[in-house]
Amino acid sequence: MLQLINVRKIYKTSAGDLAALDGINLTLPETGMVFITGKSGSGKTTMLNVIGGLDGIDEGEILVGGKKFSEFTANEYDSYRNTLVGFIFQEYNLLPDYSIVKNVGIANELQGSQTDLEYLKQTLASVGIYDYEGRSPNQLSGGQKQRVAIARALIKNPKIIMADEPTGALDSVTGIQVVEELKRLSKEKLVIVISHDLELANKYADRIIRLVDGKVVEDFMVEEKSIDKNVLEVGGVVNVKSGSELNEEETKVLLNAIKDKKSVKFTDGVTVKEKRKTDESKIKRSNENISLIKSKMKFKSAASLGVKSLGVKPLRLIFTILLSAIAFAVFGVFDTIASYTRAKVISNFLQTGAYTSIAVNGEYTNRDGDEIKINFSQNKIDELNSELGYSFRPVYSVNDFVSVHNFDPSGSHEYPITTKDGKNVPMQSKGKGYYNTSVIGVIEFKESERDFAGNITSEGYNLIAGVYPKIDENDPSSVYQVAISKYFAESIMFHTNTNPVFGKVIMDYKDLIGLFFKINGANYSSKAPAFEIVGVYDCGDIPEKFNDLKDQYVNNGSKYKPLADEMKTYLNASVQRMLFVADGAIEATRKIINKSISYHGVPALYYMHNKNSSTKYSIPQTFYHINNVDSKNVIMFDDLDRQQIIDENSKYTLKGNEVLVHIEDIDSVFRRELDYLNVYKLYDHQDEFKSLLGAVGGADADNLERENAIKAVFTKVDEIRALMATDSQLDETKEDVITRVKDIVVERESGVRDVTEVYNLKVVGVYCDVSERFDYFPLVVNDTTLNSLDIYTDQGYYSMAISKINKSASSSNLVANYITTNKGFSLNLYGNNIFSTLEKSEIQISKFTNLFLYAALVLALFSVFMLFNYISTSIASKRQSIGVLRALGSSSLDVFKMFITESLIISVISVILATGFSVLACMFVNMYLKEFMSLIVNFAIFGLRQVLVILGIGVFTGIISSIVPIINIAKEKPVDLIRRP
Ligand code: ADP
Ligand code: MG
Repeated sequence: MLQLINVRKIYKTSAGDLAALDGINLTLPETGMVFITGKSGSGKTTMLNVIGGLDGIDEGEILVGGKKFSEFTANEYDSYRNTLVGFIFQEYNLLPDYSIVKNVGIANELQGSQTDLEYLKQTLASVGIYDYEGRSPNQLSGGQKQRVAIARALIKNPKIIMADEPTGALDSVTGIQVVEELKRLSKEKLVIVISHDLELANKYADRIIRLVDGKVVEDFMVEEKSIDKNVLEVGGVVNVKSGSELNEEETKVLLNAIKDKKSVKFTDGVTVKEKRKTDESKIKRSNENISLIKSKMKFKSAASLGVKSLGVKPLRLIFTILLSAIAFAVFGVFDTIASYTRAKVISNFLQTGAYTSIAVNGEYTNRDGDEIKINFSQNKIDELNSELGYSFRPVYSVNDFVSVHNFDPSGSHEYPITTKDGKNVPMQSKGKGYYNTSVIGVIEFKESERDFAGNITSEGYNLIAGVYPKIDENDPSSVYQVAISKYFAESIMFHTNTNPVFGKVIMDYKDLIGLFFKINGANYSSKAPAFEIVGVYDCGDIPEKFNDLKDQYVNNGSKYKPLADEMKTYLNASVQRMLFVADGAIEATRKIINKSISYHGVPALYYMHNKNSSTKYSIPQTFYHINNVDSKNVIMFDDLDRQQIIDENSKYTLKGNEVLVHIEDIDSVFRRELDYLNVYKLYDHQDEFKSLLGAVGGADADNLERENAIKAVFTKVDEIRALMATDSQLDETKEDVITRVKDIVVERESGVRDVTEVYNLKVVGVYCDVSERFDYFPLVVNDTTLNSLDIYTDQGYYSMAISKINKSASSSNLVANYITTNKGFSLNLYGNNIFSTLEKSEIQISKFTNLFLYAALVLALFSVFMLFNYISTSIASKRQSIGVLRALGSSSLDVFKMFITESLIISVISVILATGFSVLACMFVNMYLKEFMSLIVNFAIFGLRQVLVILGIGVFTGIISSIVPIINIAKEKPVDLIRRP
C-alpha cells in the first residue's frame, strides 16, 4: 500500500538543519496495525504527517498504490487525503464551529456523498457516542472528542487510518477502548498508530517500528502463537486451560503461583506473542489502481464557516462596513451625477411629478445658438403628435384677444369683475400664493369634443356650471364668452366671496355665470374687451401638496417660495388658468383686431448717435417682425412722396430692406439721449396722431371724409414739426430729428456674445397702431426682407401646445429625449424655466463631479485596506479549522469559498447601506436645488443603474481585498496551519 524510499525531511532551524526523518525505508501492508514508537522528538509525528500528505518531504519518495507523491498535482494531493487517509490527531482537532453531526458529516461531504444520517449515527454508535444531539464539540470530554474524531476518520471508509498518539490525552480505560476499536479496524485497513507506550504497542501491534533521531532502529512483526500447554505464565499472568487435567509438574506451577499471589486466568487455549524482524519482502504488494475523489465541499458548508468568522472583531467589522458603505455611496452619488442627462431628469419628472398635462413651446435657435421662443404652427404640433404619440392641442395667446394680459384681481386700483350692467364686484386683496387668476392662454374646444351634457369628453373635463361658449351671429360680443376652470372660478370667488354683490354673496360656481371680467392692462385696460363667464369646468383637482399655499402671501424670502414656484409651473403646464372659448372665436377676434402672425425674430434696434461713433444705444428687448401692419397707422418720412403715405388703397409697398419702426421704440432710443425731448415731443402727440389716423381708417368714412382726414394728419405733422423747430429748448430742426431716426440701424442681437451683424435695413417711417396695441412693437418689413433675416418663418398662431401626460416610462423617455434633443421645442415651464435652471445646476454640480470621483476612489482604497485587514484577521482566526479541513481533504478552492463568502457578505451589507446613503444624498441634492434654485424637477435621479454600479464596486472591492489573504492561506501546508494556530 505505502512505500517510503529513502525519505528525508529536514527542518531548518536557527541551530542548523535538523533531519527529522533521516533516510527512512519502509513498506507498509494493506491491512494490519502498525505502531510507530520512539522517544519524543524521534520523528514519529513528522513521519505520519508526510505519509498522510499533510507535509512535504525533502528527499526520497513516497509511493501509494504504486503512485509517486512527487508526481501528484496539488489537486491529487488534496484528493489523496480526501480519499485514502483517515487522520486522527492527538488533539482531536474537531471543528468548533460545526455540530458533532456536521463534524463527522463533513468528511463524507468532501467525498461528494450525501451524509446518510442513519449511517452516521451507526458510525458514532460504533465508537460509543450516543447522545450527541444538541451538543457541540466543546461540550464533549476528551475521550468523546477522540471518538468523534475516529468516527470522522471512519465515515470516509478510508484505506489507511493514521492516528498520532490517539490515547495521549485520554485516561487509560478510555485509551484502551480507543485502541481496541482501532485494532478491530485494522483487520480490513492499514492502521498506523503513533505511541510511545511500548506496553500498548506490544499488546496490540501487528508490527512495531521504532524510530530514533529520524531513523528506523527496530522493525518487528508481532505474531500470536497458540501453545499446547495446560498451564503457562505469560506476562505475569498464569493461564490455565479450562477442562484440562493437570499433571504433577503443572499442578506444582499452579500451586506456586497461588502461593506467590500471581493472577490466574482460565482460558480456552494459551497464546503467546512472538517478535520477529520484519521481512518486507514478504509483504504483499498490490498494484491495484487507486482512484482518487476530488474534494466536493458544498458551498453552504464552506460559506457557513466564513459566516461564523464574521463576528470575530465586531467593532472593526462595523467600522469596515460603514467606511465601505460611505465609499460605495460616494460612488453611487458620483455615478448619479455623471450619468445625468436632461432627458432623464425630464422623463423622471413626467413619470413621477404631480402633473397631469404638459405644455410645450416653440423655440427657434438662431445662427448664434441662442434659443428664442417662437409661436407654434400646426405643422409643428402635427410633428409632435406623430413623433410622440401624444395629442397636443394648440393654445392661443391671450394677445389674440387683447393686447395686454396679466389679469390681477388683487391689484389695488381696479376691480375688473363686473355685472352685466357694469356694476363692479367689490374685491379685496388677499394672499395669492395659491389663487391666481392671470390668464395664460386660450383654447378652442370643438363642438365635436363635447357631449350632450357639455362635458369635454376627450379631456374628461366636466361642466359644473353654465354652458360652453357659443358665437351668436347677432351679438358680436359673444366671441368674448369664456368658460373657466373650477380652480379659476375658485380664485375669483376667493377674492370676492366675502362681499355681497347685487344683494348676494358669490357662494357657488353658478353665481359667477353672467359676470364679466376684464384683463387688466394698466393704461390700455379700457381697450381690453370684457370676458363674460358662461361656464365652469372641473378640469381636475390641484395637487394636494399645494394646499399649504392657501392663505400664504409668498414673497421672495418665504419658505413657501419653492412650493409657490412649483405651483406656478404646474399651473402653466395645465389648463387651470386658460380660457375656453367658442368654436371659431379666435378667427372672429382676429378679424376684429386685424392681426396677422407676429414672427419672432432676433434683430435688435440700435441707434447710432453719430455715424463715426462706436457708441450704440440699443433697445434691450428683442424685436419681432410682422409682415404687414395696417397701413392706416403709418407715418412716412419726408424724403418719400407724401402722396405715398399709405392708406388702405396705397400703391406704396415697402421695398426690400425698408423697415417701419414703432413710434414707441423711437422714443425708447431717444430717451437715452440728452436731447431726446425732440422726439419725445413727437411721441407726446401720438394720441392726436392716432385719433387722426383712426379717422382716416374709420369704417364708415366715405372717400371725401377720408381725404379730409388725411389732410388733417399732414397738417398736424407739420404743426408738430413746427413746434419742435421753434421750441426754445430745442436746437434741432425737424430735419435733424428725421435724420436721427433714419440713423437707426437694425442689427442682430446676440446677447452676451457680442456678435453683431448689421442688416442693411433702412428706416423709412414710423408707425403706431391705433386699433389695438401690442405689448411688443414689431419692425415692419416686407416678405423678401423677412425671408432674408435670421427668423424662423414657419411660425403659426399658437403660443404653445398642451396635452395630457402619458406617464408610462417608455412614452416619458420618448418625450424627454425628443424635447431635449430636437431643437425647436421646449417645455413650457415659465416661472421655473426648467432648462435654464438645469443648466445653472449642471454648471454648479459639474464642479463637484471630479471631486466626488476622487473622494470615492480614495475612500474605496481605504475600504479595500480595511476589508483586507478584516478578512486577514478573520482568516487567521480560522487557521486551525482551515488546516483540519485541508487535512481532511478539502481543496484550496474550498478555502476560497469560505472567505470569499464572508467578504461578499460584508460587501453586500455595505452595498445595501451605501444604496440607502446614496438615496439620502441624492434626496439632499434635490432638496438643495429645490430650495435654492427653485428647481422643481429632481436633478439627481438614483436608479437601478446606480444600484448596479454600487453592487459592482462592492463585489469588486470584496474580491480584491480578500483575494491575497485567501491565496496566501490556501498555499500553506495543512500541517503548518494546524501547528500554528
Ligand atoms: P515526535 O513526534 O517523535 O515527538 P516530531 O516528529 O514531532 O517528533 O519531531 C521530530 C524532530 O523534528 C524534533 O526534534 C522536533 O523538534 C523537530 N521538529 C518538528 N517539527 C518541526 C518544525 N516545524 N520546525 C523545526 N523543527 C521541527
Ligand atoms: Mg509527536
